Formats: sequence, structure tokens, C-alpha cells
Amino acid sequence: MRLLLVEDEARLARSLSRGLRAEGYAVDVTGDGLAGLELARAGGHAAVVLDLMLPGLNGFRVCRQLRQDGNPVPVLVLTAKNGEYDEAEALDSGADDFLSKPFSYVVLTARLRALIRRGTTGRPAALAVGDLTVDPAARRCTVGSTQLRLTAKEFGVLECLARRPDQAVPKAEILGAVWDHAFQGDLNIVEVYVGALRRKLQAARARCAIETVRGLGYRLTP
Ligand code: CA
Repeated sequence: MRLLLVEDEARLARSLSRGLRAEGYAVDVTGDGLAGLELARAGGHAAVVLDLMLPGLNGFRVCRQLRQDGNPVPVLVLTAKNGEYDEAEALDSGADDFLSKPFSYVVLTARLRALIRRGTTGRPAALAVGDLTVDPAARRCTVGSTQLRLTAKEFGVLECLARRPDQAVPKAEILGAVWDHAFQGDLNIVEVYVGALRRKLQAARARCAIETVRGLGYRLTP
């Protein structure tokens, strides 16, 4: 699952993106409001974490512009301490939630999970293929009643395949969904994770399998 972080305080941006990546999110980071707006417009983010005071374009305007475009991406705004006017204005400009600095990382990730859950209403909360269930909001994966222990990246790859069961998903698309834009590695890294997933699915006797689609990618079939 991909997030967009728009924060110009380099240290905060670094520590947040590191923490979010450790939770298994792919994170695009920019410190500029205008660049943030462009990235958000390009789409593909489960949520946006948006600072207010930004070079280029401030967070209020980024948010307002996204909503004017009809972009429904969930937005969590980071406000300065005691910034109650900021908070009110952020919500008025179309943000879904706010968190005032300094904030607890645990609270940030909990708020993000809640936003992403709400953001996916209308779509099934959990994805099911055969007896496999992938719950993106809870980041839980089960085969029957057995919970699979997956690494963050393994979960990401499986989620990506489970979103389109029975369809061939290109390797590049999986790479794009699970690894962030800064990743410069080999496309074949996907293969390594698929290998690990196959072993875990097999060990759990799952009634589904990841097939190789020659020259293209993979398909999760019941
Ligand atoms: Ca700032």
C-alpha cells in the first residue's frame, strides 16, 4: 500500500518515512507543496500525510485543490502545536483528519489505518481468494483459520495479487505497488518474494496458488 508524505522538515520526513516503510507501506516523500499536489494527482496513494507550512504551495491549498479536482484520497494534516485555527481550516479545506506536532508515531499510524479503512468503504474490507483472506486495513492474512506470518513486503505482494484474483499482474506493477519510487533494484526481487509466499501458502495448505505467467508476471488463482 502506497502513502504520500508531504513534509519539508527533512529530519521528520526521514524518520516518518523510515517508520512507515517498516510498517510495510511504500512511501513517496516530497518537501514541496506543488510537487506533493502533482504526486497526489498522479494517484495510487492509500492516504496522504500533509504538512501545512510548505514551500511551493501550502498544505491548505494542496488539500483544497485536490478536493476541487474531485480527488477523494484520504488526507491527514500535520499541524503546529496549539494550531486550533489551523486544524479548523484544514478540515474546512477538505482534510479528513489532523494531528498536531509533536505527535506520537503510534497515534499517527493508528489514525492512518482508520483513514485507510474509511477510505476503502464501498470496496470489500477483506480480499478473499479460495480460503485465503487478505485484510489490508488490519494487515492480516489468513488461510482458513490459520494466520499467515508474512513480512511487510510479502504482505504487500500478496495483497497486490489478491486485489486482482485470477488475473495476470505484471511484475512491474507489483514492484510499483509495494516498493517506493526510489527503489532502484531489479524487477526480479518480486520473484524472491513470490517464492517465499508460495512456500508459506503451501505450508498452510492454502486452496490457492501463485502461478507464473511467462514473460509477464503472476496470477493468484483459487
Ligand atoms: Ca513545514
